[in-house]
Amino acid sequence: MSNKYDRVVTTTVWSPGPGCHGGCGAKLYIKDDKVVKVEGDESHPWSCGRACSRLLAMTQYMYHKDRILYPMKRVGARGEGKFERISWDEAYGTVEQKFNDIKERFGPEAVIFCQGTGRDIGGSISFLCYAFGSPNWCQLGLAGQSCYTPRLGAMSMVQGDPCVADCSQFFEKRFDDKRFELPKYIVVWGQNPGVGCPDAFMGTWVVDCMKRGTKIICIDPRWTYFASRAEHFLQIRPGTDGALALGMLNVIIENGWHDKEFVDKWCHGFDKLSERVKEYPLSKVSAITGIPENVIFEATKAYALNRPSSIHWGLPIDMCPEGTTAAQAIADLWCITGNLDVPGGNVIARPAFGLTQYPYDTHQMKAMYGDDIMDKINSKRCGAGEYKYLANFRGWAQPDVAVQQMIDGKPYPIKAAWIQTTNMLGGQAADLNKHYRALMNMDFNVVVDSFHNPTTMAIADLILPVATFAEKESWRAWYVPLQLIRPAVSVGECKSDWEINLELARRFNPKFKEKYPSFQSYVDERMKSSGHTYKELSEKHDGWIFPDPEDMKDCSVPYKRYERGALRPDGKPGFRTPTGKVELYTTMHEQFGIDPLPFYVEPPESELATPELFKKYPLVMVTGRRSPMFFHSEHRMIPWLRVCDPDPIVEVNPDLLKEKGICDGDWVWVENDRGRIRRKVKANYCMDKKCVSVPHGWWLPETDGPAPDFYKSWEINCNLLTPVDTQSSSGYGGGAYKTTLCRIRKIEAGEACVTPPDYPDAAGKDGI
Ligand code: SF4
Repeated sequence: MSNKYDRVVTTTVWSPGPGCHGGCGAKLYIKDDKVVKVEGDESHPWSCGRACSRLLAMTQYMYHKDRILYPMKRVGARGEGKFERISWDEAYGTVEQKFNDIKERFGPEAVIFCQGTGRDIGGSISFLCYAFGSPNWCQLGLAGQSCYTPRLGAMSMVQGDPCVADCSQFFEKRFDDKRFELPKYIVVWGQNPGVGCPDAFMGTWVVDCMKRGTKIICIDPRWTYFASRAEHFLQIRPGTDGALALGMLNVIIENGWHDKEFVDKWCHGFDKLSERVKEYPLSKVSAITGIPENVIFEATKAYALNRPSSIHWGLPIDMCPEGTTAAQAIADLWCITGNLDVPGGNVIARPAFGLTQYPYDTHQMKAMYGDDIMDKINSKRCGAGEYKYLANFRGWAQPDVAVQQMIDGKPYPIKAAWIQTTNMLGGQAADLNKHYRALMNMDFNVVVDSFHNPTTMAIADLILPVATFAEKESWRAWYVPLQLIRPAVSVGECKSDWEINLELARRFNPKFKEKYPSFQSYVDERMKSSGHTYKELSEKHDGWIFPDPEDMKDCSVPYKRYERGALRPDGKPGFRTPTGKVELYTTMHEQFGIDPLPFYVEPPESELATPELFKKYPLVMVTGRRSPMFFHSEHRMIPWLRVCDPDPIVEVNPDLLKEKGICDGDWVWVENDRGRIRRKVKANYCMDKKCVSVPHGWWLPETDGPAPDFYKSWEINCNLLTPVDTQSSSGYGGGAYKTTLCRIRKIEAGEACVTPPDYPDAAGKDGI
């Protein structure tokens, strides 16, 4: 070992830190109990040594001068930015006392537990939420719950399980495993993998397939890296993905390009679907999507006639109006072409050894909390009364319903918020003002995070410092292999999300004191069916292990599990759906009062839907494009990262700029009837002339935190301009983050930025 380091720890990466959905392997070099260098772990089967910019910048994150290192309580009025250091005992005691007091007066449902995107948090926060007895576990701010859940719901209803594009990730030998077959085509649909790693998928895998000969069909409003290398590029109008999928289904069925044997034997409702898609001839679909008919036809032919092929999709599907239905139509594509759970197709994704790590769907909710959990939480869960689909799929409180209830207290008051891994006032909260008002209406807000941000500054009463992945124990089976996150060092008094939530869960539910004396005892219980313990996996298997690929009884081992009875709870061949088949006509939708067949709905704001508004605001604002330097609203304070992406920009087609007399680098207003934000223009031919790209999650840590500035969130945060209450009829999907109309114009002299509204502060002026 060079004397530059005392030791090297290998671990799996997850949040906090790089911020992402994690899964790659890292090597942490330690000197004098400090991490002095981070690099990718070449021996790790997932990432084979690759590492993104955020991982490489971890030392700047962990030892940043502004990192929150100990618990703090507010000592001034909210927004003044005055906080005082307290001990963990005082912090835990305050939460216990305040939450129990609210429970006594208003019931446990009066406390809402809020998280950001699905990183290493879903398990610990739902555990705490249910230990306290609240039904309200929520991604507050995320309009329409428009992040993966709509796609998960669609896959559950159509095929009983999620699936992902097969890039050999289910085998330790990866591309050298003889069971794997390289996909002929990968359809990269509304995602730019490689800039960040989406849910349980390493972004570089698509490129690994391309290097071996896989061709690309790219569907995106923007001319991305994959568009530039695609055999077929479909530059789609934002929000119309459902129409495109219906048109492609029609072309496939019309030409008989579907897998007749698979459809006849394993699908339910093909005839009804065939009738429905006839309503989407190419001429109509082309008019809706803005993509020429022949381009759609050729791309569809390439996908349907070259098997195996796969579809790797992204968030814009969830953000389509009726997101669950748009996702349903796309799932039907890999089903009727026989690309489901085959080598090189869309492989069904079950967690390693069938472990239940995080309630990812209703089956796992019941496995973790008992068969009556849905009935227990549905009586009071925000939105469960209104949306049958939501009441029967996953445990989320519906965010658009929840934020309104936090303001008007109907049907019951919500009085406090537990906020963990989400800087919603700088990140995901659509209708920024509404969420600020709702949080100011709370008697008590706790924020668990690593740095001050617009949310901590504006509404936090208590702040708890969280440990990064390099400072904590955790585990993941999302999906394969089973992996451990292993601590290398500790920093300040930071604790992991699991440590914090387990301690409070024990206080709210004393039976957990005995049952889970330590975090490892909890993990060992969850990992029991794998036959491994945390300690044994760490010492004997270097922190990760694949299921035995020969074990055909193991439901996490691919392929064609529907033939060998590895999917249905009764062990019979088929799928985990009511009919035991792939449901192209989804019987569960019938129960929920939703159309069982996919259909298309025009975005709430568009030239077609709102012609008068369109005259005023003729551009579609597409938010959410990823930066390789940041994850959502994180990392703006990290020098190595910020220098590469310094400004809140708006990407505009240069021809449009010429027409408007605006130049690259000018600061402009991006505005609509909800407000205006200022952004720096980046001329970019990647953009369609009808759209502008306004990256989300922007706030400026280098500016003032206390009111009225809140790190300039109200000046540059694109979610000042996005609405809530556009959710799908299922309750999931439809957040208008990619379809809201706007205009851009030069900033006139003397024009000022908007500041946060002044809302009554329910928590009082002199601290807590
Ligand atoms: S984005 Fe990918 S490479 Fe970066 S830390 Fe996350 S999993 Fe690893």
